[in-house]
Amino acid sequence: MKFKKSEKLYKKGLTHLVGAVNSPVRAFSSVGGNPLFIKKAKGSKIVDVDGNEYVDLVGSYGPMILGHRHKKVEKAAKKALKKGYSFGASTEAEIKLAKIVCDAFPEMDKVRFVNSGTEAVLSAVRLARAFTGKDKIIKFSGCYHGHQDSLLVAAGSGLATLSLPGSKGVPKGAVKNTLIAEYNNLESVKKHFENHDDIAGVIIEPICGNMGVAIPQNEFLIELKKYLKSKNALLIADEVMTGFRSKFGGAQELLGVAADITCLGKVIGGGFPVGAYGARNEIMEQVAPLGGMYQAGTLSGNPIAMAGGISTLTELKKQNPYDKFEEIGSIIEVILLETAKKYNVDLVVNRFGSMLNPFFTKTKVTNFEEAQTSDTKKFAVFFWEMIKNGVFLPPSQFEAWFLNSAISDKDIQVIANATDKAMRKVAD
Ligand code: PLP
Repeated sequence: MKFKKSEKLYKKGLTHLVGAVNSPVRAFSSVGGNPLFIKKAKGSKIVDVDGNEYVDLVGSYGPMILGHRHKKVEKAAKKALKKGYSFGASTEAEIKLAKIVCDAFPEMDKVRFVNSGTEAVLSAVRLARAFTGKDKIIKFSGCYHGHQDSLLVAAGSGLATLSLPGSKGVPKGAVKNTLIAEYNNLESVKKHFENHDDIAGVIIEPICGNMGVAIPQNEFLIELKKYLKSKNALLIADEVMTGFRSKFGGAQELLGVAADITCLGKVIGGGFPVGAYGARNEIMEQVAPLGGMYQAGTLSGNPIAMAGGISTLTELKKQNPYDKFEEIGSIIEVILLETAKKYNVDLVVNRFGSMLNPFFTKTKVTNFEEAQTSDTKKFAVFFWEMIKNGVFLPPSQFEAWFLNSAISDKDIQVIANATDKAMRKVAD
């Protein structure tokens, strides 16, 4: 497999782009080598500029749940494009998407569309503060909630990949109201409430995908919600990754928990830039123009993005691929585990429906500390061997793999063959 054109573009890109990328994980820093440049994608496949074709398990880090360029999504976006790109005024499409979204989540009467997951979360945190009149927010270490200052502490995703504790440029003042708890540990949340009486709420990835996949144990979320209610604090579910992916109604539907505020992104736009936050009426009425919490966006509710979202969610509801995800996911999980056993490689696989990833460790992974026991050097070897054998994975130990509904039996065979070669190389 040759990567000459990617290498050439990488060198060219370094002149005017930071690290030749627009999001750090794309630089392949933690797996070494040059990043791949992509030419096109269709269905379950992605093709780089050298013409190498891969089964895509990145799925643009989540949004491409139907695979690439689903014909209904493409048709809807093209139709919208012909009517104009942006109006600075409302369209009927926003109302349609809002209804689909609110119908999917248990306690969501109203929603506000923004342009990214980061925007959704930063607005949700402001809203929690506006509604409760309190300032502090608890987050869990290893959960990533976008790159807003106040939550860029003990975050997973790219920060975990680069082993960065936080980010330069975040003033101390910006994080003084952020408290850190341990995922799957209710006692660590309770301790903060014992020491502070101004906690507005807790933000959580209900199924975490940013320290690799970590799954809430037992009744953790249900107990957390109950406890927060007793403290008059809000549960903010960051479902940017899990919304419409774990189930149509997100992790909340799957786990039987209703959050007070829900953040969405990724799948909601089907590959177009859409984020959203929503809640019941009494909370959303704090948001301008109904209330005093200001939040706005020039391109929010963009008509092409709305068309992408409506068509993606409509098709997703029709396909109802969640059983299929469970089936494919468990097959891939077994492939990974059995191949690791065959070559005597220590491996733990965490999976929740269509999100999964392997950790090269013996330790059960339920939180960030345990995730960090994974041998990232082994992951790098595994990653490149998977690439060379036709499987495109996130170039980081701490990113989830995402399945899509276009994955075929033949693709699974490609994954199985690649896994065999990659695991053998890890064992070498
Ligand atoms: N929240 C979660 C759980 C995420 O996984 C991400 C991105 O990966 C974000 C928020 C930020 O979303 P975006 O990258 O669209 O700003």
